[in-house]
Amino acid sequence: MRSFDVVIVGGGSAGAALAARLAAPGDRSVALVEAGPADTEERVLDVRRWWDLIGSDLDLDYGIEPQARGNAAIRHSRARVLGGCSSHNSCIAFPTPGPDLERWVEQGATGWDPATLRPAIDRVLGTVPLQLAAPDSPLIDAVLEACAAAGLPTVDFATWDLTPGAGRFRLNVQGTTRQSSSVAYLHPLDELPENLELLLEAPVSEIVLGQGRAVGVRTAGGVVRAEQEVVLCAGAIDSPRLLQLSGVGPAEHLRSVGIEPVVDLPGVGAHLLDHPEGVVNYAASRPIEPTLQSWDVGVFADSSGTGGPDLMLHVGSEVFDLHTAGHGYPTADSGVAFTPNVAHARSEGTVRLRSADPGVKPSIDFAYFTDPDGYDERVMVDGVELAREIAAQAPLADWLDRELSPGAGVTARQELSEYVRRTANTVYHPAGTCRMGRPDDRRTVVDPQLRVLGIEGLRVADASVFPSMTTVNPNLTCMAIGERAAELLRA
Ligand SMILES: Cc1cc2nc3c(=O)[nH]c(=O)nc-3n(C[C@H](O)[C@H](O)[C@H](O)COP(=O)(O)OP(=O)(O)OC[C@H]3O[C@@H](n4cnc5c(N)ncnc54)[C@H](O)[C@@H]3O)c2cc1C
Repeated sequence: MRSFDVVIVGGGSAGAALAARLAAPGDRSVALVEAGPADTEERVLDVRRWWDLIGSDLDLDYGIEPQARGNAAIRHSRARVLGGCSSHNSCIAFPTPGPDLERWVEQGATGWDPATLRPAIDRVLGTVPLQLAAPDSPLIDAVLEACAAAGLPTVDFATWDLTPGAGRFRLNVQGTTRQSSSVAYLHPLDELPENLELLLEAPVSEIVLGQGRAVGVRTAGGVVRAEQEVVLCAGAIDSPRLLQLSGVGPAEHLRSVGIEPVVDLPGVGAHLLDHPEGVVNYAASRPIEPTLQSWDVGVFADSSGTGGPDLMLHVGSEVFDLHTAGHGYPTADSGVAFTPNVAHARSEGTVRLRSADPGVKPSIDFAYFTDPDGYDERVMVDGVELAREIAAQAPLADWLDRELSPGAGVTARQELSEYVRRTANTVYHPAGTCRMGRPDDRRTVVDPQLRVLGIEGLRVADASVFPSMTTVNPNLTCMAIGERAAELLRA
């Protein structure tokens, strides 16, 4: 049996940052136990190949339950490699907006206010190099001019204060090499500090609990013992899965799959959030130069008139026909895609076990577009209409030949809703399943120090602790959670 002071499960966006920061002073031994291999292959490091990793041997590739109102064909990519999803994502990089953190505080995450989290965010920005997307692309210039003509002024995301507008993304990339949490915090892997050990290809099947305390984790190679703490950084699907496999979760559900509950925590695996995404595709009227990872512009709009953005669109210099081609919509080799997403979607889903066998994939139900007031559906349809409005503006209109999907003849909101829900994808941002909040709130799983309620020596630090979804792409926020977790463990 190996023994360390702190055992971190999952070397993804948050876990790699946490491991590096916790080990840096050299005063405690840290094991980073990662299900997947090292991230040293070119197909992982070269951001231009990010889409090739989807559904590959490095992807846990989770299916979802049948959806009453959404697209059940969505596959949820979850990377099984050092760096986690930051090793196969598209590297769009946003620090956490202040208003999102203020909302977290309102929801019980005391101590996660913008001022307190600022040092952690600054350390992420000081560690992870960023570069501007497609600085010389005439198509992207045309997209931004069209957005401005549609009333969405060009903003610089480096100094942006969350007002409606459109801008070139910043990417956590240097040249063509992704700056994942692993690359930025851990590489070179053969020069890690002596007190930080990487245990790779070591999927954890259970947290070992003894007398109300986490004392280690079980892998195929045996138990890895934690003298001080276990920290789950396995992501928004696998952290709640591991808790439930270990008897921490909704008691009735655990019994239904033959697991004796240790702590009845109803919030574990509940409150599954995402950014649901639709698409409006156009064929190009002229050749389009490929860009690094094809998605270079973000558009943020205020569809509810509340002052802040509640609708985001990614603009891609390609046709995104993943879920439209199969439904018979035409496609093209060259084009432009607008993918609206609901920034603060209100539908909430679940991550549950199908079996007590850790080898069986979980039951994941996003319950897309099921919020009772139809808010998610309304924002999504607004997004389709906004995409069309932008596409109709000069000079972008000259780049576009015709609308491929849903097709210019589809205009009624009800028809647009049916199209966009049937062909929806995800922005791959699951979160919220081990929600951070007030200890007296039944939905809370971790307190603001990230400690799992009811068990000593066990924390969660990854996207699953989000009290609510960020307006923006969440990867740097996950790294900041890793940074913050290191502060909290040291305290
Ligand atoms: C295809 C795709 C594109 C995306 N694009 C962007 C983008 O451009 N910008 C952005 O901001 N966000 C993007 N995201 C989202 C972002 O990458 C994630 O929100 C973020 O990486 C989540 O970080 P995390 O630390 O919660 O989990 P992860 O980074 O997923 O880390 C979890 C780690 O735990 C490991 N693990 C899981 N189970 C076990 C186990 N049982 N034992 C041991 N280890 C385990 C996994 O192998 C993984 O390394 C994208 C995601 C995907 C999938």
